[in-house]
Amino acid sequence: MSKFPDSQRMEKIVSLCKRRGFIFQSSEIYGGLNGAWDYGPLGVELKRNLKNYWWRVIVHERDDIVGMDGSILMNRSVWKASGHEDTFTDPMVDCLVSGKRFRADQIDEQSGWVVNFVGATDFEAFQKLQQEQEAPERSRIWSEIELGPHLRRIFTNPSGTFDLNSRSGYVQLSDPVEQTKSLELLIKRGILGASSLQPFSAMEIGGDPKSFKWSSRGVNRAIRVAQDFYRKRGVRNPIVFAVGLEREEHSKRFNPENGSLLTEPRSFNLMFKTFVGATEDESSLTYLRPETAQAIFVQFKNILEVSRRKLPFGIAQIGKAFRNEINPRNFTFRSREFEQMELEYFCRAGEGMKLLDYWLEERLKFYENIGIAREKLHARNVPDEERAFYSKGTYDIEYDFPFGRQELEGVAYRTDYDLSQHQNASGKSLEYFDEETKQRFVPHVVEPSAGVDRTVLALICEAYSEDEAPDEKGKMETRLVLRFHPRMAPIKCGVFPLLRNNAQLVAKAKEIVGLLRPHMNIFYDESGAIGRRYRRQDEIGTPFGVTVDFETMGEKDAALRDTVTLRERDSMKQERVAINDLAGTLLAEIT
Ligand code: ATP
Repeated sequence: MSKFPDSQRMEKIVSLCKRRGFIFQSSEIYGGLNGAWDYGPLGVELKRNLKNYWWRVIVHERDDIVGMDGSILMNRSVWKASGHEDTFTDPMVDCLVSGKRFRADQIDEQSGWVVNFVGATDFEAFQKLQQEQEAPERSRIWSEIELGPHLRRIFTNPSGTFDLNSRSGYVQLSDPVEQTKSLELLIKRGILGASSLQPFSAMEIGGDPKSFKWSSRGVNRAIRVAQDFYRKRGVRNPIVFAVGLEREEHSKRFNPENGSLLTEPRSFNLMFKTFVGATEDESSLTYLRPETAQAIFVQFKNILEVSRRKLPFGIAQIGKAFRNEINPRNFTFRSREFEQMELEYFCRAGEGMKLLDYWLEERLKFYENIGIAREKLHARNVPDEERAFYSKGTYDIEYDFPFGRQELEGVAYRTDYDLSQHQNASGKSLEYFDEETKQRFVPHVVEPSAGVDRTVLALICEAYSEDEAPDEKGKMETRLVLRFHPRMAPIKCGVFPLLRNNAQLVAKAKEIVGLLRPHMNIFYDESGAIGRRYRRQDEIGTPFGVTVDFETMGEKDAALRDTVTLRERDSMKQERVAINDLAGTLLAEIT
């Protein structure tokens, strides 16, 4: 298995996605839009294959599930009742130096020495006063009697270093309380020039846990970060005042990228606001839906009536969702606009836990059937403290992405929470009437909720591989190949005439294209050496290649007339197949 996390592999994947037309940055020519992506000609095929297969196994192949397609804009009351308006929030923190925003619960833990600072002052003013100390009687400031003790407290044998070149440095205060008071006074009197007394802390990430080494040239990372902090607050060439050191293990208080202290967490609602109609005020406010599920809950009664299903039964939907994520990252993994494939499977209270396990297994099987290795999938039983208060059990299905193990899908037993909330808020009954027991009750629900974009990314990550194959002259070279399951591959088969300037071969190849096209997505290619044409298809994951050669025309052996070479992408094995059998052979592999 590859190194984990593997940023090199991820970089190659992102670059291949752009180069071959799977995924582009949205609005790229204008510098992009963070958290939004466009799928190119191959990406859209892959995405459709995934959604179609999900729809097939969840809706078409079952009697107990029906589909729907809800609107993205809904009455604001939906989001009040569902709890999203008040609680669909993430805790966010900002870096005090770079201003970069993070989700507080997603900060990587850091260990290291934390250096605390009380403030900073201007290098030149500080240096001048220090020089004047040598002949205080000639200095106007040092001659002021009441300033003397304060100046001495700061300037007598200061421990620290000053960097004349970068006009900055640090001073360690040994008596923080008294010395800070002196600093305050000197600053108030305007003696120290541009200064700041804002406290700050920075972590020197890593390092020897037993002792902190002050650099003799004042280049400790924590010092540098503190200087940046005070520079941003108006101290042009800062000398920073350090007041203490402590070791912190597994801390989430500091920016992992530069060691700066982060702000305290604040709640941030992830829903995009919008206005319906011509006025832009509270009365016209609503949201772009942050999940597809709520449309299913609010249409529960209508669908129950028209589909005449008995419990347990489900309603499925695929569609766009929008979340103003604090920190979109890892390519398409965390986007602000994405698609979900959600199933709400309604049941009786007593069946919930059993169905939760049933759906977990079904969903794991689904991922295996689209070509994701079982050993890279993990079912995490979400502990009580992380679960929504109304959920009696939740599993996260996680996948080993090159950037780490991350959630692909949540499978949650949500009890009767959603339907009850909407029933109470709307005043409309969302109850189910059980003909046999003559009882009325609000059904419970189990929800497998999967991300289309995350699964597409997992498919690409899983498929990406490099191996060795001979070039035209038989020399081994690195081959880049996407080993998509044929079911998911954007193009199922490439069709190639051996020579582009032979009218018969070209005509035959085009005839085969016409034969296969009604059944699958085909790519016709006549340019370049045949080996190169294979390689181009390998790189985009086309599982099969058909070559029309002179044997097809019956020129070498009459028995081989109307047969072609069928090449399989992964093994690179080639076999002769009759043209009449082609569609059947390929269909058996791709459906
Ligand atoms: P996360 O903890 O990663 O933010 P979540 O637990 O909030 O995800 P759910 O609300 O359970 O996610 O949404 C169900 C599925 O929708 C997720 O498993 C994921 O596949 C997909 N999804 C959620 N947020 C995003 C996003 N920002 N970008 C892409 N897919 C997403």
